[in-house]
Parts: sequence; structure tokens; C-alpha cells
Amino acid sequence: MKVIVVGAGIGGASAGIALQRLGHEVVIYDQMRENKPVGAALSLWSNGVKVLNWLGLAAEVAAIGGLMDDMAYLDGHSGETLCRFSLAPVTTQTGQRPYVVARADLQALLMERFGMGRIRLGARLTGIADDGTTVTATFADGSTDTADLLIGADGARSLARDHVTGATEGGPRIERTHAGYTNFNGLIPIDEAIGPANQWTTYVAEGKRCSVMPVAGGRFYYFVDIPEPPGVPYDRAEGTRPLERAFGHWAPGVRTLLDAIDPDASLNRVEIWDIDPFHTWVRGRVAILGDAAHNTSPDIGQGACSALEDTFALAITLATTTLGVEDSLVRYQKIRSARAADLVLRARKRCRETHAFDPVATQAWYDHLRTEDGSEIIRGIVGNITDSPINLGGGTL
Ligand SMILES: Cc1cc2nc3c(=O)[nH]c(=O)nc-3n(C[C@H](O)[C@H](O)[C@H](O)COP(=O)(O)OP(=O)(O)OC[C@H]3O[C@@H](n4cnc5c(N)ncnc54)[C@H](O)[C@@H]3O)c2cc1C
Repeated sequence: MKVIVVGAGIGGASAGIALQRLGHEVVIYDQMRENKPVGAALSLWSNGVKVLNWLGLAAEVAAIGGLMDDMAYLDGHSGETLCRFSLAPVTTQTGQRPYVVARADLQALLMERFGMGRIRLGARLTGIADDGTTVTATFADGSTDTADLLIGADGARSLARDHVTGATEGGPRIERTHAGYTNFNGLIPIDEAIGPANQWTTYVAEGKRCSVMPVAGGRFYYFVDIPEPPGVPYDRAEGTRPLERAFGHWAPGVRTLLDAIDPDASLNRVEIWDIDPFHTWVRGRVAILGDAAHNTSPDIGQGACSALEDTFALAITLATTTLGVEDSLVRYQKIRSARAADLVLRARKRCRETHAFDPVATQAWYDHLRTEDGSEIIRGIVGNITDSPINLGGGTL
């Protein structure tokens, strides 16, 4: 079967590898002109890593993964440790260690494994036509391609989503919802004045957080959240000024982090949005996958992991059912949409708690952190993973 995948992000590239491994002829199209991921790094929790292992990338992912052995919360003002504990139970309960990876490393790994020769960059999808037997994609330069199946992995502002939901024909368009904060992130050299080299360290206060996670190559992935409405003007020339305003008075470890940021080398600013869960992911020979289907705020670090779960479910469904592509896609939607919705809503709940959108809940959380021995936080992390399709109904130990 011939498959067109639109989008070469983590969702599209992983789906491309999976479908190629099933023996299908796959071409990936992406509007980007070069591999330049937005954002510096991401945490791949055990569910996401397991899908990558299943794709034959276990050793490669381990090689680019930072080792996050412990986790700690610190008071943002005083730097006092509120709690600190080992993340080893996440590994033992799920059967796989989580990793933090630089996005550029993961993206390059996926694209190379798929095959750069079958990725068409600079190709912007402008239309989809499904005649019931084949599906044709049209691109901005007027070119077309026709296949048996089209996977829309075209991200949060997906055109493929508009096709499957009928918005391209005048139906209501699914809109994104602002999560209430802006995220700044990047990579810096590891400095233990911020936190130990093998620890996910998070400073919290005032409904804000300031975090570092270890990435391979002696680097920390840093990310900080500033609660603010959408559309706050920001010029790149301002560099870290918004961070100075938000965190300049925080603990010495945070000061060290701010001083380590080189805005020209690694400082990204992202307004955070998500989408209310919706359950129409397929139409005829077209299915959506990844952020196109379930755009989530990064508050539980599960967006890309969820895209990888889509890849797994889609490939297994296509490989094991024989009533035709359209039937397989409906089964894929059925397996995935409720599970993905659960993660979007879990992230929203966490977002409210972390950012003081409910100040009483946030204060209660800060108070709780002082008594936390890790068991509740680990229960939450593992709870995000237990129902993953990659666990094949076996959950965790
Ligand atoms: C600040 C932040 C931190 C995050 N941290 C984590 C984390 O720790 N762990 C985690 O699992 N997830 C995390 N996520 C979520 C994760 O980044 C996304 O869920 C994931 O990257 C989605 O991958 P995707 O392939 O679906 O979409 P994308 O990566 O957005 O890829 C879509 C691709 O489609 C292309 N495209 C779009 N429209 C067209 C078109 N019309 N024609 C052709 N090509 C098109 C784009 O160029 C792009 O390359 C985070 C997100 C943010 C914003």
C-alpha cells in the first residue's frame, strides 16, 4: 500500500518508520525547509521510549537520552529542598527508563532512520481529496501525490484535522485554548549550582516554575513558565529580560541558571495552548495523528509520547485487521481518542495546580511537597503511563 504522511515531526516521522517496517511504500511531506525543531528538548516517559524501542531504536535513544535518576522540588525563593527522591520506581514499575532528549537529536534520528531520500521538505499541504478508492494531497506549488492512505501529522494547526472534521467544507473549526502561560526553554551546560547532574530539579513559587533536566552531552534542558495572557509582545532582542523580571529575585540556583542562558544560542519562547479533546480523527482514507489529533499543554510531558502511542496503535491496527484501510482507521480512532483525551485533561489539571490558576490548590500543593516522599508523584507519573496501548493491557507492576 502507498502511504502519504504529512508532517515530519515526532508523530509523522515515527509513523513513517512504523508503516515502512510493515512493508508499505511511505513518503513524508513537510513544509519546513530544514530540520529545525521548535523547542530545545523533551522528556520521553517510559510509554514513549517503549514505542521507540519497538521501532528498533532502543540503543540509539539510550545514547541520546539524559539520565534523570532523581527528582527534587525546591522553594523558588529560598532554594530550600522541599522534597527529593529517586525516579527508579518509574523504571521498575514500567519496565523502561525515561529519558530526556534534545529535540534536534531525536528528530534527526527519526528522519535518518526513515530515510531522508523519502522525505520531501518545503512541501506545504493545501488540500486533500478522497475519492473512496484513493486519496490525493495537493501542495502549495500545485504538485499532487496520490496514495491509499494519508496520515495527517501536521501539528497543532493541522489542515488534515480540518479535513477529517469537515471544517474545510464550512463545518465548525476546532480552535485551540490558551493554557494561561508562556514557556521559555533551551539548553545550557550542566552546572551543579542549579541542581545535581542526574536530577530533574524544579524551583517553585508564585505559581511559576523553573526547571532543569539532564540531556546527553553534559547539558541541562531548562524550562521556565510565566503565567500571562496570550499575545504579550516579545522581541528576540529582549533576550532573557522577561525571565529576569519573573525570576530575578529567586534563589541562587535560579540566578545561576539565568546567567547561563545564552539567548542567541538557545532561548525559545512558546505560548502554551491546547485543544479540547475531540473524537473525530479519521474520515475515509485519512487519519490524523500527534498534535493534530490531541494538542496538549506540556504540563505532564506527554504530548510527543502520546503521538508515539498513536504510531503504535495505527501500525498494529493496520497490521492486524483485514477489512480495508477505512475500517482499520476507525479502529485506530477507537483505540486512541479516549486515551489521548485523558492525557490532555490530566495535563490541564496539572497546569491549573502548577500555575496558581486556583491559588488555594497551588498553596496546598506547595505544602504537600514538604511532606512528599516521592510516592505520590511517582504514582502520578506512572498513572499517566499505565493505560498506554504499548502496555498491551498489562499495565505496570
Ligand atoms: C514547551 C513544550 C514542551 C514540551 N515538552 C514535552 C515533553 O517533555 N514530552 C512530550 O512527550 N511532549 C512534550 N511536548 C509536546 C510535543 O512537543 C508535541 O506533542 C510533539 O512535538 C508533537 O509532534 P507532532 O509530530 O504531532 O507535531 P509537530 O512536531 O508540530 O510536527 C508537525 C509537522 O507538520 C508540519 N506541517 C504543518 N502543517 C503542514 C502543512 N500544511 N504541510 C506540510 N507540513 C506541515 C510542520 O512543519 C511540522 O514539522 C512539549 C511541547 C511544548 C510546546
